[in-house]
Amino acid sequence: MHPTPAQSTLPKIEVSPRGASRLKSGHVWVYRSDILSVNGVQPGSLVAVTDQRGKPLGTALYSSSSQIAIRLVSNEAVSDFPALLRQRIAAALAYREKVVENTNAYRLIFSEGDFLPGLIVDRYNDILSVQILTQAMDAGPVRDALISELTDRLHPASIVERVDPRVRELESLPPRESGLLQGDKHSTIITMNGIQFHHDALTGQKTGAFLDQRENYSASAAYAHGDALDVFCYQGGFALHFAARCSSITAVDSSRPALEIADQNATFNRRENQPEIEWVEANAFDLLKDYAAANRRYDTIVLDPPAFAKTKRDLDAALRGYKELNLRALKMLRPGGILVTCSCSYHISPFNFLEMLASAALDAHRSLRLIELRGQAKDHPVLLSVPETAYLKCVIAYVT
Ligand code: SAH
Repeated sequence: MHPTPAQSTLPKIEVSPRGASRLKSGHVWVYRSDILSVNGVQPGSLVAVTDQRGKPLGTALYSSSSQIAIRLVSNEAVSDFPALLRQRIAAALAYREKVVENTNAYRLIFSEGDFLPGLIVDRYNDILSVQILTQAMDAGPVRDALISELTDRLHPASIVERVDPRVRELESLPPRESGLLQGDKHSTIITMNGIQFHHDALTGQKTGAFLDQRENYSASAAYAHGDALDVFCYQGGFALHFAARCSSITAVDSSRPALEIADQNATFNRRENQPEIEWVEANAFDLLKDYAAANRRYDTIVLDPPAFAKTKRDLDAALRGYKELNLRALKMLRPGGILVTCSCSYHISPFNFLEMLASAALDAHRSLRLIELRGQAKDHPVLLSVPETAYLKCVIAYVT
């Protein structure tokens, strides 16, 4: 195969046989240790990737500082990345049209899952929220193409950028503030599964709401009943979905600002016959211990902690943390109760997670029947050749 003229104008990066076989298996990352030559390639460049013999493997985005040195964007030769970005945005939107329902808040672009590594875009009704995670996506012409394509296709009231300062530091990018990129509206009301949430695009954790749990809210609400406890509730996603089915709901988080918004959301959605949700600001580990000691009992418990395993090395400690939480919850569930338990750490596989749960159940002298083993909402697509795109586990189990 001869490289096309377009490809030959790009800087070339040669990868090791291990890097080449990774790309051939459908993965899109090559680590720095598998790069053989990078002569004078500028940070964030579009590069032509070849194997050791010079055989073209595709076109990638290069980072001069990340351990993930290149992220493939195409198996073909590409000369105009902004043009490719526009096509990929169109494809991402077409996919959402097929899989997204009952909401005006969902992820429009999920990085590797949409063949746009380093780019995340969420839609919150009429506001779009952009996160840029790599040198290549931060380039001016790329940003311009992104904004103009999103505007032409979706006509949002505004577009905000959410900046994670740590990511910019890791990518050796100059510091930048979160803020509006276009328009001036930054708060809106989103609807998911018939429930409304206030959303401020410039405050809150991550991009502000946990869109990845959206389908798990409605799936678990179908089994929720009796007295419910929502642990790590943030702005009340699970608790609000349970209000129509449960007789009492207590929801716990350590973040006061999150609970204040949760309370506003609850007032906003509450129907006459629904219980008032009790919001508790506490450390969930301490609270579970205290509630267990006080012999509190529940029919439905949700556990949705932050990621315990940020790296592979944290795996054992993380599994111990998950086990402690799940053990306490299991002890507090009445027979016939529902446990909804989640992990958003990629490093914990569904198998690890189920094994941990089985062991917690054994120690708690309870048995668990798996009702549903779920993952992230479909607008966060899992690309099977890139296992890292599958990160969320949500188990719904029946406890006796
Ligand atoms: N269930 C939520 C998302 C939870 S994210 C939803 O569906 O929207 C994890 C939450 O855990 C965050 O809101 C964070 O404030 C909270 N958190 C982190 N550590 C905590 C701790 N030790 N005790 C209680 N809450 C904690």
